[in-house]
Amino acid sequence: MGHQYDVIIIGAGPAGLTAGIYAARAGLKTLLIERFGAGGQILNTYEVDNYPALPGITGGELGMKMSDHLDKFDVTRQMAEVTSIDFGEGAHTVHTDSGDFSCRSIILATGNSPRKLGIPGEEELTGAGVSYCATCDGAFFRKRTVAVIGGGDVAVEDAIFLARGCEKVYLVHRRNELRAAKILQNALFELPNVEVVWDHIPKEIKGADEGSVKGLVIENVKDGTISTLEVSGVFIATGNDPNASYTDAVKKDERGYIIADETCATSIPGVFAAGDIRSKRLRQVTTAVADGANAVYSVQEYLI
Ligand code: NAP
Repeated sequence: MGHQYDVIIIGAGPAGLTAGIYAARAGLKTLLIERFGAGGQILNTYEVDNYPALPGITGGELGMKMSDHLDKFDVTRQMAEVTSIDFGEGAHTVHTDSGDFSCRSIILATGNSPRKLGIPGEEELTGAGVSYCATCDGAFFRKRTVAVIGGGDVAVEDAIFLARGCEKVYLVHRRNELRAAKILQNALFELPNVEVVWDHIPKEIKGADEGSVKGLVIENVKDGTISTLEVSGVFIATGNDPNASYTDAVKKDERGYIIADETCATSIPGVFAAGDIRSKRLRQVTTAVADGANAVYSVQEYLI
């Protein structure tokens, strides 16, 4: 049986959507498989302020624009979750919960997902006061006090965003210095209703009887002191883990990211990795879209 597609792109974040645009323009018969609809991680971002030419665009709007751009071209889109992939010589089969699809080459663009803390209360109270997406859930906490955990770009952006509607925002960070970009830090430090709780790690999220959050237990890493912040929401922004559990055949690094260089070529011929799923230094929308383009260029070279 012949293959159905020249290339299957798995993932509809900025890398996958860009790959779709380039693949269609290259005349490749293309299938884009998306799990939750288009946009990927930027949907969790209120404002994207470093994507050239579109200052201050919301993550949702940028995702929509990229998706609409792709729809100008002849690309088949399929909502499905990939369960496994059979890699063959010159032909591969992608198994999903909506059927199997065959192709000559694959672009893996499945990105990553928010990392869990693994502390008591986190799982039970997720959706009931514990959230991994401030822009999705922040509105439920208007005039309330909340905590954000983490010290990276996402944590600081979340704290800034939440401070607009919340009474008070604690930013709980495990060190005495933030990892976030300076411009974000400067904006954060100007806000009167944000308090940074330095050198503390979260230990437990306490719930009230009615299934809501009532406190965050934290530990001072310097002297071991335990204290509780009275909050009704906890936003966890402690980084991400790669979404690549559907395959063990492709070589990954120690953190589970798929090993590939700028050509996006993986350890399997004809299989390419683009965007946040790829081992790389800087995970941004700009670097993801660059990967999408590079991956298709490599696919074209491979198919020739
Ligand atoms: P990140 O940069 O990896 O930051 C994770 C933060 O969580 C760090 O401050 C880390 O502390 C802390 N942390 C990790 N595990 C923890 C734990 N178990 N307990 C307590 N704290 C913990 O992740 P991110 O902020 O989600 O950003 C992900 C990527 O997207 C980054 O590359 C970021 O630059 C990029 N991004 C960029 C922008 C932008 O440019 N505007 C916006 C959003 C995201 P330590 O600092 O001590 O390690």
